[in-house]
Amino acid sequence: MAQQVQRTLAIVKPDGVEQRVVGKVVSRIEAEGFRIAAIRSARLSKAEAEGFYAVHRGKPFFASLTAFMSSGPAVVMVLEREDAIAKWREVMGATNPASAAPGTLRKELATSVERNVVHGSDAPETAAFEIAYFFGGVDLIG
Ligand code: ATP
Ligand code: MG
Repeated sequence: MAQQVQRTLAIVKPDGVEQRVVGKVVSRIEAEGFRIAAIRSARLSKAEAEGFYAVHRGKPFFASLTAFMSSGPAVVMVLEREDAIAKWREVMGATNPASAAPGTLRKELATSVERNVVHGSDAPETAAFEIAYFFGGVDLIG
């Protein structure tokens, strides 16, 4: 049976924008068969970063993570393809670049477990929350 087209939220984090690898990430996204349904730059405030990563509140890295995510502009995107959530996480690689598989974006571009260049939703419910967080009210190209 054909898999259903699914949407996920991707972010090129501030370290990726700073490194000027937005083009490289977008090229890979297209090469992997995703369609970009929406894309924009976003400069997150500390409060917005805290709201976005609310599930991690209380963890030891929360303050540092949200400071990093609000340290400069990011690029946020809605990606669409079959099995988009799992596929995008596969293309990103493991959270820690030291354990990421060869050929993944994090293996190639990330500099630490925190500064790991890209974000991807981890489940349909989080994808829905995260897409609404950045693109609520936007008419996504269907
Ligand atoms: P993301 O949600 O950003 O796509 P992920 O799902 O692979 O990444 P999470 O466990 O959700 O990983 O962690 C969110 C982010 O918090 C990570 O991408 C990373 O930037 C940061 N982070 C996670 N674990 C650590 C850690 N041990 N030390 C520092 N930063 C961390
Ligand atoms: Mg996550």
